[in-house]
Amino acid sequence: MLIARSRELGFAGEFIVIDSDPNAPYDRPPLSKQFLLGTGPVEPAEWWPEATPILNAKAIGLLTDKRTVLTDKLGEVAADAVVISTGAGSIRLPNGPAGVLTLRTAQDALALRSAVDAGASSAIIIGAGTIGAELASTLAQRGLAVTVVDLAPQPMQRFFSGHLGEEAKAWMHQAGVVTHFGVAVESIQKTDAQWTVRVSGLDLHADLAISAVGARPHTEWLTYSELDISNGVRCTADGKAMLTSGGIADGIFAIGDVSARQAEDGTFRRFESWTQAQRHGAALAEYFAGFDSSELEQAPYGWTEQFGRKVQVHGMLPPAGELVQVYAAEERNAALYRIGSAEEDVAWIGVNAPRQFSRASMGMSLLS
Ligand SMILES: Cc1cc2nc3c(=O)[nH]c(=O)nc-3n(C[C@H](O)[C@H](O)[C@H](O)COP(=O)(O)OP(=O)(O)OC[C@H]3O[C@@H](n4cnc5c(N)ncnc54)[C@H](O)[C@@H]3O)c2cc1C
Repeated sequence: MLIARSRELGFAGEFIVIDSDPNAPYDRPPLSKQFLLGTGPVEPAEWWPEATPILNAKAIGLLTDKRTVLTDKLGEVAADAVVISTGAGSIRLPNGPAGVLTLRTAQDALALRSAVDAGASSAIIIGAGTIGAELASTLAQRGLAVTVVDLAPQPMQRFFSGHLGEEAKAWMHQAGVVTHFGVAVESIQKTDAQWTVRVSGLDLHADLAISAVGARPHTEWLTYSELDISNGVRCTADGKAMLTSGGIADGIFAIGDVSARQAEDGTFRRFESWTQAQRHGAALAEYFAGFDSSELEQAPYGWTEQFGRKVQVHGMLPPAGELVQVYAAEERNAALYRIGSAEEDVAWIGVNAPRQFSRASMGMSLLS
């Protein structure tokens, strides 16, 4: 989005894009949804400017003062500005044996779809965050017997900040998904074609074992850069990367999942959200072009699709805030929830209620 928006604003200079994924550019959200249900290829991202090539190489270091990226195949690449947008990668289970599947890249999605196409009839998903829950939904739709296990007491604990746990469990159970929450994985073993996952003393068996325990920002290549990479690249609210010394690294920026942005209360927040990543890119393009961007003034937004429901979240959900249902249409499994009472702090969760959700999140009345 940084490049697309820069071109819209008339920037004619050069962008050098380096990515180690040979399938880039593509959108990840369909990988756990439509792609697994279909037979087609991973589609290229529609928003990517066709005229901009992607150089297939891995960034392995950054000479921060020289704005120079060290790469495995292209040597040193210098520029007037460096934008770090290396995203995040799946966390591997400690001591997880080879063959446990994960889902982050097109290659992962192809491997998972091939395993299902080859006749897998059951899956154990370790982790019930948004990706684990979406996978449970999609694989159940494909006819697999699905079991979900998680240490957390409810699905999507982080996405919902602890709210709507019983509802999200019910969506799973109605689709026939078996769940075990509040359990620890003790071992994962493969014998013949079957996996055995032991959780809190109970042995669960399935054809596939899938780990969906979260993502870690891709900052390993920045270890010697002197950037602050405590949890993602720490940066100012508008994306200027910070040094471990506390200062700002001149000409170095971070956007998307890899960036941890400073909020008004001084804390650093990292989102894993397609929309946030797009907003970061557009806002940086506007900053480069000398405009005051309004992209970053919007409240955080995230969405997930699962069990026949489109779930949308607007704002920071306060874990201790009171959740009030303000709209419901049971025949469509639709509902809208408000959390928080002070007008400026209101956050919203919409379930199959896009019109009501967008009116509410714009501060408009739900009536009319
Ligand atoms: C299966 C799945 C489903 C999702 N569904 C949703 C959804 O429904 N809604 C939603 O809001 N979000 C969703 N997301 C999250 C969303 O896709 C991410 O927030 C978004 O992709 C972040 O974009 P990004 O550009 O910051 O990082 P990425 O998309 O991760 O891109 C980073 C790129 O950097 C490259 N890279 C990493 N390290 C290096 C290196 N050292 N050298 C060179 N290249 C490197 C990677 O190959 C990658 O192409 C989903 C994610 C996944 C995996």
